[in-house]
Amino acid sequence: MRTVIFKLIVSTCVFAIVAQAQTRFPQKDHSASRQQVSRPTSDQNLATKAGANDFLLPGQGFASRKATTIPAQKSITSSIVSSGTPVESIVQYQSFSFGTTFTLHAFSGKYVSYLLPESQIGVNGLSRDEIRELVDLTDVMYAHMMEIVGGEPGGEGLLTIAMINPGYDFGAKGWVGKKGVEMYEGYGVRYRSDFLEGCVPNPVVHEMSHNFDLYNAYISHDGNNVHAWTGFLIPYAQYYSQAGASWHGNVVSPRTLLDQAIDIDLDAWDTAGTTASWNQCVKSGSGCADREIYANETWAGIFLRYARLHGTSAVKRALRYVITYKTAHPTPPATAEAKNEVLVSAFSAGAEANVACELNSWNWPVSAEAQGQMAISFPNQNSLCSDVDNDTYSPASGDHNDSSSAIRPNAVETLNGLDDDCDHSVDDVLFRELDDVSADVHSAQYVSVPGHIIGHTATADDSDSYQIQIDTPRSLNIWAKGMGKSFSGWFELRYAGDPDTTAPVYLPYEIVGATVIPFDRAGAWILTVRPWAGAGEAYELFLGKIDQVVSPQLQIIAPPKLNTILVSVTTDQDSFKELTPTSARLWAEGLGFVAEQSFQPVMTFKLKLATTYNIRLRTQLFYADSPLSSATKSVSTGIRYKAFPNPPAGQISPIAVTPKVESEPRLKTNTRSQKVRSLRAPDLGLLRSGPQ
Ligand SMILES: [Zn+2]
Repeated sequence: MRTVIFKLIVSTCVFAIVAQAQTRFPQKDHSASRQQVSRPTSDQNLATKAGANDFLLPGQGFASRKATTIPAQKSITSSIVSSGTPVESIVQYQSFSFGTTFTLHAFSGKYVSYLLPESQIGVNGLSRDEIRELVDLTDVMYAHMMEIVGGEPGGEGLLTIAMINPGYDFGAKGWVGKKGVEMYEGYGVRYRSDFLEGCVPNPVVHEMSHNFDLYNAYISHDGNNVHAWTGFLIPYAQYYSQAGASWHGNVVSPRTLLDQAIDIDLDAWDTAGTTASWNQCVKSGSGCADREIYANETWAGIFLRYARLHGTSAVKRALRYVITYKTAHPTPPATAEAKNEVLVSAFSAGAEANVACELNSWNWPVSAEAQGQMAISFPNQNSLCSDVDNDTYSPASGDHNDSSSAIRPNAVETLNGLDDDCDHSVDDVLFRELDDVSADVHSAQYVSVPGHIIGHTATADDSDSYQIQIDTPRSLNIWAKGMGKSFSGWFELRYAGDPDTTAPVYLPYEIVGATVIPFDRAGAWILTVRPWAGAGEAYELFLGKIDQVVSPQLQIIAPPKLNTILVSVTTDQDSFKELTPTSARLWAEGLGFVAEQSFQPVMTFKLKLATTYNIRLRTQLFYADSPLSSATKSVSTGIRYKAFPNPPAGQISPIAVTPKVESEPRLKTNTRSQKVRSLRAPDLGLLRSGPQ
């Protein structure tokens, strides 16, 4: 098999270099955008004709997610197992959504297998090189979800992500708690620019979040709550991975993504204050539509706010608490109140603190019993709830510096290099629209960058034009929200020297409002905001810097000697602002994380594999047990092991050639004699069994 892949890569590599059409701004179909900019109350957009939902509950769907290898006609999904090497095979795939069978090419990694029809591979689809990258990136995401959630979806073999065409674009389907994703066949190509930027396509992250929904029945509210869980896990996995999310190739940094998800999810809830309640707006899942409060978003927002306050380790401990609870209670709690009780207990166990005061300040219910239990378990006062600087805000209620009363939510932002108003942006001076700002691009209102605008619509069609100065070409992170409700509308962006040529920019509806806008010329730009709202409504606009993301460099530093690979990992220390990594891990395509070493600015990994091939490696920096950088782009070792000769001419049948395993893959200490430990010894049984 391997040899066939190589051959095809060689013969199709010219297609992989096809330049992507560069447009200055992401552009969308206008009419579609107008409908899509509204808040995604769920991901209904992913589910069109195949039914109301983009997910199937465990009891639904066709019981067998079958993928039968051709021509061996051997077994079912269990044949799609990790081989330790990226492999391709042809399978007959039976859809769990439709029951129909498709002939597909399966590209398998360590945890996932993408199944694509012939039509989506090659000239009009994805190159095999691109597919390998997609498989491997999705493997990394699977590993991260497993770390967060502490478990895996049910079902045999690899998680199959089948790109199928049942005759129409049905969006996507994810099996809740089980392995199995299906999406319209065109999605691979549609999201190519995203995974080429190092981000797993958003619909895949979404559906995988359904697969990793293992505890929802224990901790969420009643009603249709599967999108409460995904509302949490989608942005959190993208944040945790430190890869962020890509929208049409524009990557939003992980931190910005998390902040925005929280703000958007909880803006209406926070604005309503105690006039809204969990009983009214969350418990049954129905929400309080009159105030744009949605049960799923509110639940997800509270979880994300907890996650931001306490960090990734707390989230993991909280979910491990739920695992223990689930084991002890095979039947989920019967009421929404009882489920919330488990959630609150999990939060407490995760934070190792009495979190009642935090949740109270977020208007989230804590029963008297839970309150009493936490007071016993954690008798010390929760310092995150105290207001040491007497500015009426505690860290739990958003104070980023509780030793300075000048720094608090709603403080006036001044140009002092500090985030005075605790909105996660430094020196984003506020412009508040008092007199109506003109829509006329020739008399635009000057605002500073980074900036923060609170504007309003004087009339139903009111638009406002702002002028910003860009000193050097760069990208800005721009996002908008309504005040206490969702923002709907769009932007138009023009170069001031050329204002009559409109290059409209639309808010991608998928991304809780944020988009990364490249400004390719220095000078003045006009940003026209066109809210899609009635008269007298307010909006809030943020013009933010792009976060600097820490990224190590990975290099193959020694010519491969037989089956030994020497890899250097170099990190620019100046890039660490808050934390220094504690370790670096090495990721090998098809094998997962294979080694970890204590962090050094320059590190060397010496990796000895029983069977080397054109393996791709990545590295990722960690702080304790959580990523501190994204996994780097893959670097190919360029090694082809002599045991895999080229296939005879004309043989294109992708029949797997199982590598001869000569010895157990092992990891050696590096030249600096640092301690290297194996994270997950590749399963030799699987290595041997390989696809047939
Ligand atoms: Zn969904």
